Amino acid sequence: MMDKMQVKPSIYSLKYSDLKEWLEQQGEKSFRAAQIFDWLYKKRAASFDEMTNLPKSLKEALAEHFDLTTLKTIVKQTSKDGTMKFLFELHDGYSIETVLMRHNYGNSVCVTTQVGCRIGCTFCASTLGGLKRNLSAGEIVAQVIKVQQILDEIGERVSHVVIMGIGEPFDNYEEMMSFLKIINDEKGLNIGARHITVSTSGIIPKIYQFADENLQINLAISLHAPNTELRTKLMPINKAFKLPDLMKAVKYYIDKTGRRISFEYGLFGGVNDQVEHALELAELIKDLKCHVNLIPVNYVPERNYVRTSKNQIFRFERTLKEQGINVTIRREHGHDIDAACGQLRAKERKIETR
Ligand code: SF4
Repeated sequence: MMDKMQVKPSIYSLKYSDLKEWLEQQGEKSFRAAQIFDWLYKKRAASFDEMTNLPKSLKEALAEHFDLTTLKTIVKQTSKDGTMKFLFELHDGYSIETVLMRHNYGNSVCVTTQVGCRIGCTFCASTLGGLKRNLSAGEIVAQVIKVQQILDEIGERVSHVVIMGIGEPFDNYEEMMSFLKIINDEKGLNIGARHITVSTSGIIPKIYQFADENLQINLAISLHAPNTELRTKLMPINKAFKLPDLMKAVKYYIDKTGRRISFEYGLFGGVNDQVEHALELAELIKDLKCHVNLIPVNYVPERNYVRTSKNQIFRFERTLKEQGINVTIRREHGHDIDAACGQLRAKERKIETR
């Protein structure tokens, strides 16, 4: 691992308002912000030198203060279904995962917000080495840009973003919020709020804070269990942020934003996938404006969970439907590559996850 060296901040960390402020401090005209955003997000410039309508002195000042290339592609895997999984290296040698999923409604990118994670979900490879550091907003934006550059080759765009990669986004709240504002900005990547989903393991104070941001962004809760005992076993965070309190926060979010919430429910063979669990889950959420995503969990070698059989998945889904719950089984993406969160990083960079 490289020593932490002094690095320049990524230009992609700047919101439009930050860039305008910086330009003013440099004695530059604020209209330059629109030109720079255009180069970064519409023309996808690979260097400041390419920004031909900027004066030379400004290009030099930008290069002196900011980095533009922040991610190096280490691994790129492509699945038969078109899913692409990337392992990117950061300036300090750490690596992160990003996934592109091709849907019939568009191209969705799943981004990472932290190097590792400290939440400790028992089914997750990403948390095995703990948290190394938070990503900057620019490092999160750069993941989307990298994928967009690949889609540029076939004339397509990133239309959806899900923050469901490595890390707990609400544990890196400020940078995550800057990231959201940058990609949502019509002068930036212009990805609609309703096309963005943030997924949390349930950091309750941040759910309230996020609700009060008054955005139309989708919120997903990693629930994975219908009761306190089981959830604590699967997700130790449930000891700090208890299920009944989590449900209150969820209700607040729904009331405040009018948005439907998603519950992510990973099915682990013989653990949380029985009909009795489905009935208990239905009882827990029946009064909420919500939707359940059932996720047939991939076998994670480091953990002892096994996949739920197809029949059992359908039985679970049917039981929820009979109870009037909106539910879908998430289509598996990239089943033939290392698709589960953290698997690729754990495999390629064993040193980081110890
Ligand atoms: S599932 Fe998400 S929140 Fe839980 S340990 Fe893994 S990365 Fe962290």
